[in-house]
Amino acid sequence: MEKPTQVVIVPSPWFSIQTSFIEFSKRLIQHSEDLHVTCLIPTFESPSDATKALLQTLPSRVHSTFLPPVHYDDLPQGTPKPVQVAPVLFGLTVACSMPYICKALQSLSSSSRLVAMVVDQFSSEALICAKELNMLSFIYFPTSAMTLSLSLNLPKFDQNQTLFNESRDLTQHIEIPGCVPIRVRDIPKPFQDRTSQMYAFFLERSRKLHVADGILVNSFEGIESGAIRALREEGSAYPSVYAVGPVIQSRLDSESKTTKGFECLRWLNTQVPNSVLYVSFGSGGKLSQDQMNELALGLELSGKKFLWVVRAPTESSDSVYLSFEDKDPLEFLPDGFIERTKEQGLVVPSWAPQVEVLGHEAIGGFLSHCGWNSTLESIVNGVPLIAWPLFAEQGMNAAMLTDGLKVALRPKENEKGLVERKEVAKVIKRLMEDQEGREIGERMQNLKNVAAETMQEEGSSTKTLIQLSVYLLSK
Ligand code: UDP
Repeated sequence: MEKPTQVVIVPSPWFSIQTSFIEFSKRLIQHSEDLHVTCLIPTFESPSDATKALLQTLPSRVHSTFLPPVHYDDLPQGTPKPVQVAPVLFGLTVACSMPYICKALQSLSSSSRLVAMVVDQFSSEALICAKELNMLSFIYFPTSAMTLSLSLNLPKFDQNQTLFNESRDLTQHIEIPGCVPIRVRDIPKPFQDRTSQMYAFFLERSRKLHVADGILVNSFEGIESGAIRALREEGSAYPSVYAVGPVIQSRLDSESKTTKGFECLRWLNTQVPNSVLYVSFGSGGKLSQDQMNELALGLELSGKKFLWVVRAPTESSDSVYLSFEDKDPLEFLPDGFIERTKEQGLVVPSWAPQVEVLGHEAIGGFLSHCGWNSTLESIVNGVPLIAWPLFAEQGMNAAMLTDGLKVALRPKENEKGLVERKEVAKVIKRLMEDQEGREIGERMQNLKNVAAETMQEEGSSTKTLIQLSVYLLSK
């Protein structure tokens, strides 16, 4: 019997990356019955509940294996404990998992025809094992084409010192080919300081992007035509770029909806259509205690209905840190807030079923940190945004949504970087009450339609995936 054709994916150990990879795999196999996917999942400490739940949704031709967990004691000496900057941790976890990845591939190769490996920017080390087995190598880029372009151009920007002229003030703009001008302060923090270790880390990662056979970016022409075109035009300098988005998490089946966190959907069922602002900062975003107070009091002041996914505060909301604390986030809300707003809003500790929430007719706006998954989920559901970026490439996404696509409003910070309660209330009313908000909502509806077309049979994303699966099967 002929061996099945397998694509192996190796995502970094971070929920939003894993979820994007899994959905991409589901879409890839949809277009060919002969294609199978095996997902080898590097794990730090232990897999999250959200990841475990995600893997229960896999179709039969997508298999998954958690690799043996990596612990702090396995990491190189001197790695800070107990918190660690996430992208570095992803890279270290994958590096420690290499023997398991190579072993799993060897074992798979006896029963399957291994044609390609798909990794992300931080798990690209795993391509070494793929090359040994003559597999094609692809980078799946779960964020925007603009961020991909910044990463691919980083070595060039580095040479020309485009981003890093000492005298450059953070409000000046940089030009990424085909994109809206981006203020320097909106590019990821590690890219702003040429002398930092994180900068060196990202520069090295950027160079590694160039060794892949192709890059699959989770975006589509309807929102990033300029950036995608520019990447294709400069094609000879880069691996081929395939725009396969919008890849977003699918909704859970009705059985899973009885599980924890889904009570908020029942609350939404009791609300008027388009009346509720959903507030969430992604899978790991946190605010400082001061900012959390201002947001809470601003929500209250706005008088608008809200559903807020609350996390315990942090000292450093401007970069992503992994921590494993188990504090009750509701304890950090201002005194009496829950009681005073019990008719106005609902607070959910730590996690809500976001794709179901955004698809609910009661939701009229999304105050978001502008992580790329959240951005795409909002677009696919036609929900206009309040852009509140915290770290990584979120500032760039916020600029695209506000200045480029004009489907979001961005609140103003004071000189200490704090968004005050009055500003919170003002921006909510602009989005949920004013004519300006209605126009933003109409533009978002148009984008929703374009996103839906992209994923239909004749849509550009579907065509690209078909082209890719034919190519993979022909190898
Ligand atoms: N998410 C969720 N419930 C939450 C918070 C996040 O389901 O309470 C999901 C969300 O739907 C999205 C992902 O987690 O798919 C967050 O990804 P994003 O890229 O927006 O942000 P990140 O977590 O990478 O900062």
